[in-house]
Parts: sequence; C-alpha cells; structure tokens
Amino acid sequence: MGTLVIDRACLADFFGTFKESGYVVVEGGRISKVGEGPAPAVPGAAHIHGEGKLLTPALVNAHAHLYSSLARGIFLKAFSPKSFGQILEQLWWKLDRALDLEAVYLSALVGGMAHLRRGVSVIFDHHASPSAILGSLSQIKKALSELGLRGDLCYEVTDRGGPKERDQGIEENVRFAKEERVPGQFAAHFGLHASFTLSEETLAKCREAAEPLGLGYHSHLAEGKEDPLDALQKYGERTAERLDRFGIVQENTIFAHGIQLSQAELELLAEKKPTVAHNPRSNMNNAVGAAQVEKMLARGIPVALGTDGFGCDMLGELLAARL
Ligand SMILES: [Zn+2]
Repeated sequence: MGTLVIDRACLADFFGTFKESGYVVVEGGRISKVGEGPAPAVPGAAHIHGEGKLLTPALVNAHAHLYSSLARGIFLKAFSPKSFGQILEQLWWKLDRALDLEAVYLSALVGGMAHLRRGVSVIFDHHASPSAILGSLSQIKKALSELGLRGDLCYEVTDRGGPKERDQGIEENVRFAKEERVPGQFAAHFGLHASFTLSEETLAKCREAAEPLGLGYHSHLAEGKEDPLDALQKYGERTAERLDRFGIVQENTIFAHGIQLSQAELELLAEKKPTVAHNPRSNMNNAVGAAQVEKMLARGIPVALGTDGFGCDMLGELLAARL
C-alpha cells in the first residue's frame, strides 16, 4: 500500500477542527499527517487535488440494511400501512423474500457505492433474505470488498419463516463468524430480528450458537409498540428485560432503535452498556416515536447513528438527530 497526499482540501472533523485549506498524508493505509496550508513534498506519493472539496474522517453506519437499496423508487400495488407491523408485512418482508443470492450481491454493491459517495467507510449491516440464506453474507462481503469498504455483518434470525429458515439463519451467522472474518476489514455479530419474532426456544438456540464464538448480537429493540406489547403479553416482561435473560444485553451488542423503553430498561442498558444505534429519519418515516437519546447519553449508554436502510446520508442523519 503506497503513500497518498490529498492537498488543498477544506478539512473538518466532528470535534471542532476546521481548516479552510489543508492536507492529509496517508501512508500504508493509515493517516500519518494532517496540516494547514500546502502539503509537504512526499516523493513518489499519489496526489489528489482537494480544492473545492470537503475532507472529513470517514463515517460509520451503525445499523444498515443494504438490501433496502433495491427499494428505492419501488412501486407497490397494495401499500397502505396503518402501523409499523403493516410496513414490515407490506414492504420489507415481501422485498427480502424476493431476494436471491445475486440480488443480495447487487443490492450490497449498489448500496455500498451509495455509502461511499456519502463518505461512509464502515457498514454494520443487518441482513435478511429468507429465500437465499446460506451464503448470503459472503455475497455482501464480496461486494463491499470490491468497493474497499469495511463491514460488520450478520443475518437476522427470526421465527417468521418457520424452523427451517430459523436454523439456516443461525447457521449463516455461525458460518460467517467462523470462516469469513478478516481482521481490520470484516467483523461479525450474531443477528436477531427482534424480540417479537423470536420464541424462547429460538433465543436459547441463538445463545447456544453465539456464546462459544464470543459474538455480541445485532438486533432491533423496542422499535414499534409491537415489541414491548408482545413481550409483556407472552412473558410478563419488558423487551430488554426479556432479552437480558438470554445474555443478549451486553457490551458487544448493538440494539437498533430502542424507542419504547421504560426507565428500568434504560437503567439496565446503562448497567450492561450495549450500543444503541439511533435511526432518527427511519423512526420518523415509520412513525414509531423518538428514542430517548438525551437520557441514554446522560446514563452513559453508548449511542451511535444508523440509517436503518433509509438511505445512507449519515450527515443528514446527524442533522435529524439534533431535531
Ligand atoms: Zn433495521
């Protein structure tokens, strides 16, 4: 890996650094120098003129669904959802079931390109393709590798398609984590859809598969009201409390959304320190409510930003988070 100099760009980070005209030197894949004014001479380095461009640290999408890139501009004959559950049934659960392995690859390629154009270099993807489960994460890895992106991948296990699909989802998480992780480029979590589509038996199986590999989980949590209602009705517990019984609430877990949470659940998250991926624009689009981000931050709960498959504009997501 050679040396690269990006010169005369406007430099900004998210901690107050701003240089109207500056440079960045990258050596061996790592940033070695950042400064104001013209770049120093570096013999043999590749050179990019950054004039008129904004250069920032690369961004991270902490909760994505790359397959959703195929939903852009989609025309649905019957789409009149009255609830979050109906949005899943009328759009997302039809789209993911239609994917074959080639469509998974192409969706990751198109979605990955769109992320690159928005300055995102790391994607935590939460994948579903129930008609083509085994090998699906390899297709996403292939597409992201070709684009030079880094990824943390998982397959969302659910009971919605019956035991065969559930078991294949578990198998795909295990296979990927065992065989396809690449230090510094591809990591893995164990994917779960959400508490309300996972039985006690399935959660126990997931724990049995994930724990020997030391995997954290990547799951939706209390996104719509369906999730806490289901947990309360069937198990007499709030959603996070139920997942905690299976060791899922832990430091290496990513929970997307975390909207319908009680004070006791917030305290549980503060104690166990999973990361909450906040997806403000998706939440507005699905009318599921607003996450209690200020309370989370005040309790020391790590909060990251994600898109939930609703585009890939992380700066737009940041602006929406400030609303
Ligand atoms: Zn999601």
